Amino acid sequence: MAVSFSLSPQQEQLKQVARQFAEAHLRDLAEAVRHEADPARRADLARPAFEKAVEAGFLKGLIPVPFGGAAGSGVDAAILIEEWASYSPDFVISIAGPLIALVPVYQVGTPEQIRQFVAPFLADGGAPVAAMAYSEPGGSANFAAAPPAEGVRTTAVPDGDEYVINGRKAWASHLPGWDGDGPDVMTIVCRAPGGVSLVVAKREQLAGHIEVEHLYDLPALRGCLTARIGLVDVRVPKANLLGQEGQGVELTRNAFIGSGASIGTFSVAAMRQAFDAAYRFALTEHRGGAVPIIEHQAVADVLADAKARIEATRLLSWRALDAALSGDPQALEWALHAKVFGSETAVEVINDLVGVVGISAYDNDFPLKRHLDEALAYPVIEGSNIGVRRRQMHALLTSSGYDPLAASGMS
Ligand SMILES: Cc1cc2nc3c(=O)[nH]c(=O)nc-3n(C[C@H](O)[C@H](O)[C@H](O)COP(=O)(O)OP(=O)(O)OC[C@H]3O[C@@H](n4cnc5c(N)ncnc54)[C@H](O)[C@@H]3O)c2cc1C
Repeated sequence: MAVSFSLSPQQEQLKQVARQFAEAHLRDLAEAVRHEADPARRADLARPAFEKAVEAGFLKGLIPVPFGGAAGSGVDAAILIEEWASYSPDFVISIAGPLIALVPVYQVGTPEQIRQFVAPFLADGGAPVAAMAYSEPGGSANFAAAPPAEGVRTTAVPDGDEYVINGRKAWASHLPGWDGDGPDVMTIVCRAPGGVSLVVAKREQLAGHIEVEHLYDLPALRGCLTARIGLVDVRVPKANLLGQEGQGVELTRNAFIGSGASIGTFSVAAMRQAFDAAYRFALTEHRGGAVPIIEHQAVADVLADAKARIEATRLLSWRALDAALSGDPQALEWALHAKVFGSETAVEVINDLVGVVGISAYDNDFPLKRHLDEALAYPVIEGSNIGVRRRQMHALLTSSGYDPLAASGMS
């Protein structure tokens, strides 16, 4: 990114188009999701908006240009995510599966793999979904751990020209697809004879081989279809192995760089909405006193601190997404800062804003608590900060030749 902090005319337009889409399709969706108790029906509510987004070219906009899509820069991605996630972070997570699942395909896929696995997401209609099947019910922070640790438990056993995959996966959105027969593409982290590996299964290979064990009922992000499933004798051609057997640890880490960076922007969206609610309350509410509560400096100080931290997180996240999507060698460090700093800042900021509003905020009908619930997810999704992300940062800091100025380009 050239250093400019102004949106270009194209980015201004993207912001407007994204905001219009969100107001037209995501505002009501978020409200409907809030009032639907059943996790499966909740996820289905997103389908009409999903199809509209595909028709409008937004899905193709997630696929990089060299692979047939129309993706823009990292800042473009940040603008779109912030606008949509302000209304429905669930919807963004639901549609953005290819942003994780296809990254290893871009990185090491053969031309034939790229053709097959990217094709569903270049469609102008329908609701194609992708899942990155990394997490497992018994935990995944130690998926790369060597024996005697369990590490990843899902296995890919060679049988002639095929792998036979068995195991259990959890959490990744759209593991069962819309109908239980799987997503269009599932990138599966598994253990092959040569070590941790990534194998892609297509819907026709998954259909009839997925056992849906449980649908999670989340406090927020409730429109995401997050499930625990069994993969039972899924047969895929050996040609669906990405890279080499044993390359899965590196490919998985890389797959979650962009999504880690995006958590900074999800955090901004939650903080922005919470700030809006608290600020309007402070401007208008006297709470029985002589002046609106913003006239009390203690209240204004909290708002000012919140605003500064929102702006800092937004800029950090722009930088991180730009690095991730442009293939900057420093992208991992930027993504880790956006993920860890962004998510933990959001929890603190929104908690502080609850304090500004007081007891009125402790009501599901007041538009603040729901954003705290969203923010609480961000330190633990896309690799929990403690179990995954801070460990990655620890490894960077202790790697030989680590240069603290390199990320900023100031060495
Ligand atoms: C809406 C949503 C979408 C998601 N999307 C996906 C997706 O697309 N794909 C996917 O695979 N998953 C997805 N997940 C799951 C998510 O990414 C988790 O972050 C991931 O499963 C890792 O969880 P964890 O780090 O808590 O691991 P766990 O293995 O469950 O570890 C639990 C805790 O133990 C501690 N711990 C474990 N090992 C260590 C260690 N070595 N050092 C220090 N502490 C340790 C940490 O405190 C850690 O948080 C999603 C979840 C949600 C809610």
